[in-house]
This record gives sequence, structure tokens and C-alpha cells, in this order.
Amino acid sequence: MTISRRNFLKVAGAAGGVLLAGGQKPAQAAVPDADPKGLEFYGMLIDTTKCIGCRSCEEACNEKNKLAKPDVSFSSETVFEKKRDTTPEAFTVVNKFPNPKDPEKPIFVRKQCMHCNQPACATACLVKALEKTPEGPVKYNKDRCMGCRYCMVSCPFDAPKYEYNSNMPYLKKCVFCFDKVKNGEQPACVEACPEGASFFGKRRELLEIARQRIYQNPDKYHPYIYGEHEAGGTSMLFLSSVPVEKLDLRMNVGNTSYPEKTTGFLYAVPHIFILWPTFLFGLSYLTHSKDKENGHGEE
Ligand code: SF4
Ligand code: SF4
Repeated sequence: MTISRRNFLKVAGAAGGVLLAGGQKPAQAAVPDADPKGLEFYGMLIDTTKCIGCRSCEEACNEKNKLAKPDVSFSSETVFEKKRDTTPEAFTVVNKFPNPKDPEKPIFVRKQCMHCNQPACATACLVKALEKTPEGPVKYNKDRCMGCRYCMVSCPFDAPKYEYNSNMPYLKKCVFCFDKVKNGEQPACVEACPEGASFFGKRRELLEIARQRIYQNPDKYHPYIYGEHEAGGTSMLFLSSVPVEKLDLRMNVGNTSYPEKTTGFLYAVPHIFILWPTFLFGLSYLTHSKDKENGHGEE
């Protein structure tokens, strides 16, 4: 598999974090649907053929996480005029795409942290502020965070966002309503979805449901489950009626988890990491300066 320059930097970001964390091997080899102790991961099946773009999931997420109210109301469709990314005040956003199969029925696709099976962000974090839980959600402990933003550099999906405009900046991203999941409840966005477009369950069972839907409705679904293998597999799984490339879902992330990709690299050239912190800080600075110039990263 070829790896782009951008992805090299992300892989390298994860690698640097691992080495700096103590030269340990990255997390255990891929276990597709479970943590190393065998507990099955939960996940979320996003069936974009069911989504009507009501943004109830966005609103529920906003309320659950006590985020500031957006300038444009959740009932306004003007937000669909341009593609949106997550921000420190919006952990999940819905975007609209043309539907080549049915121009009258646009496709709506949610965007948020993918809760990777083996998250690069958690591997890159030197202080374990980001952690893959045995239940599947990748949670964040702000009290541990030192603001280095290695996680942002390493995430293949650009999910974590940073509060640049805050005096006490922290990382912000979806944490899969970990407190609710831990208590046997569903994430707020799933509870709020009136169409069942966001469906919560054990990742393994969700994959079975997704395969069944594809098998039983070959004209309706494109035969691909996004997230089954991407970046080593993710808790967020997507079904769609069209190839996912048309929905801005990243296809260039490979099928190997980012921590796993770095193993050989780590042990082959250990001395490179003496300079790693300087390199990553420089990289992060340049990336975000560029983002700010382009108007991204500013809230
Ligand atoms: S999508 Fe990014 S932030 Fe979310 S778990 Fe994966 S690596 Fe971490
Ligand atoms: S709540 Fe459900 S139907 Fe509404 S935008 Fe979110 S996923 Fe789509």
C-alpha cells in the first residue's frame, strides 16, 4: 500500500508518541471487535440511506456536552450550503451530498470521531489523556492533557479539535457519551435520531446487521461498510447507497491501524526520536498556522 506524505506525517506522529511514551511496543495487535481482554467493543451504525438531515443528533450532542449554542439554529438548512468540519463547539456535524441515484433525495452524512479500534491519538498521547476503553469509546481526560496536540497530528480522520481561543485550552471531540454507555444507555445522538439512522450496539452485531441490509437490498446499498477495516477498523460504521468516496469519507487511511503501522519503523531507527518532540511541535505549529491563515481552526 502506498502512503501519502500527509499520512506519513500522521503515522510518524503516532510513532513518535509511542516511543516517547517509553519505547514500548504499540498496543496489542489488531483484535477487530474487542479489547485485548476480549470485551466486545460497542459501535454505531450510521445508515446514510435513512438519514433525513434533521440534525437532531447535532443538537442532542450539543446539549449532552453542554456546548455553546450555534449562531445558526439547528432547524436551519443554510448550514448545508458548505461542508462543515467538527469544531470545539460541535463534536458531530451533518453534511449534505448530491445523490447521483436520486437527485431529489440528497445524502446526509455525519462526521465525528471514529473511535478507532486501535486509536492513533491514544498511542500518540504521552500522558494517557486519550484512552481506548474496553467498551470501545475513546475517552478524554482533560486533567491529564498537557496540550501538546500530538493526538491531532496523528489522527487519520482529523477528529480532535483544540480550543485555540480559550485561555485554558483543551482538546475537544466526541467521546461516544462514554458515561451513558458505561451505564448501559445509548449515546445521546442515537437516542435523538428519529429515523434510526444512527444505531447503537455491539460492533460485531452491527457489522452483521450492515451485511444483512446490503445482502437483502442490493439495489439500495453500495456493497461496502465504511469503518469495518479503515485504519484498522473503527466503532463508527457507515452504510450508503453510493461509493463512500462521494461522501467525503476518507479512503486513503489504509486498513492497518496507525499504531501497528509504526512498529517496524520504531525499532529500525530509534535515534530519530531524539529529535521527535521538536519535529512534532514544529509540525503542529506550521499546520495550525496554516489552518488559521486559511480560516480553519478559528471558531
Ligand atoms: S478518529 Fe482520531 S481522535 Fe477518534 S479515535 Fe481515531 S485517532 Fe482518535
Ligand atoms: S438525527 Fe438521525 S436523521 Fe437526523 S440528522 Fe442525525 S442521523 Fe440523520
